[in-house]
Amino acid sequence: MKQLKDYKEVIHKCSKCGLCQSVCPAYLESGNECAVSRGQFIMLQGVIKGDLKMNKTINKYLDTCLKCGKCSAFCPSDIDIVEVILSAKAEYFKKSFEGKILSFVQSKIVFNTILNTLRLLFGRQKKFKKKFTKKAIYFGGCVETIFPKTSEYVKELLNKMEIEVVETNFNCCGLPFLTSGNMKRFIEQVNENAEKIKKTDFDYFVTDCASCQWTWNEYSKYIEDDELKQKLENIEFKSIYELIAEKGLKFESKNNCSVTYHSPCHDKNNDILSKIENIDYRELQGKDECCGFSGILKPSTWKITKKIVNKKRQNILNTGAEYVLTSCIGCMIALNFTLRFNKKVMRVIDFLRENCRL
Ligand code: SF4
Ligand code: SF4
Repeated sequence: MKQLKDYKEVIHKCSKCGLCQSVCPAYLESGNECAVSRGQFIMLQGVIKGDLKMNKTINKYLDTCLKCGKCSAFCPSDIDIVEVILSAKAEYFKKSFEGKILSFVQSKIVFNTILNTLRLLFGRQKKFKKKFTKKAIYFGGCVETIFPKTSEYVKELLNKMEIEVVETNFNCCGLPFLTSGNMKRFIEQVNENAEKIKKTDFDYFVTDCASCQWTWNEYSKYIEDDELKQKLENIEFKSIYELIAEKGLKFESKNNCSVTYHSPCHDKNNDILSKIENIDYRELQGKDECCGFSGILKPSTWKITKKIVNKKRQNILNTGAEYVLTSCIGCMIALNFTLRFNKKVMRVIDFLRENCRL
């Protein structure tokens, strides 16, 4: 497992050009150099050299970063900025008191007990046994536990596309562990999930959450078993929306309602809404600007997050749309919070299930 010091050369590649500032939501709202990768890299160089101690203040700035990855797309030095910042978070996590508390809450026994209790409360999902030549693994993540109807609907769609569902029993993708800096627990989760597909044959790997899709794409970086690493590197992790577009499924809205779409940072060109007939689609200004989810529960960075959240709120209200759609569970939580639960916020897949016909 890589440590912060292993990124010394990567950080050194930063030319201090400042291009990241022009796209970083945290910097644009705060004007604070320490909120953006360029400033964070200067701090982290100090930590690696031993001139600075990894402490609460540095962690606060690491938390100001929303891990949206916008900066990496613009960085001429081609630095995977989020990966470096997450390794710094992991450094703080190991040494801090908060890290010890979170370590307990996120431990396998506590986390899985919560998930299993939710599964008992929300009911069992039916099994999909239809056989087809092509096979798919569907990853619904923890959310599958509390929205069993969604995962059943995805599986029905797969069957409609003449794709067999390979039943698996995954837990969380591990993203909450990764972003909090709990690298040990993240790697444990990565290995547990990846082992489940090691001996399985399938043609597609689909999910309905953009963040789960992004996380699975990261897995191979954290796997040591060469065979498994290779297998993960060869998988194209797809969203169900990409597969729907590929297979040409057509949807029609039942009620000509108005919708707008917030595009998650981890989204890959989800344009399914433009293909639904009989729908009043209203483009959201700044639709791919971060919703601020990762900062919502952090009092230390709330001042900046509040500005990001309020801007998103105003843009959504300006559309006047009845439904606010997205394709990530984290964004869905953030948007509900942003809109104070006064609008119908839904994942696209649930909108298709409830409001559209094939
Ligand atoms: S990941 Fe997003 S919030 Fe973090 S430094 Fe890059 S652009 Fe800014
Ligand atoms: S865009 Fe990349 S190279 Fe330029 S300052 Fe930001 S992190 Fe450094």
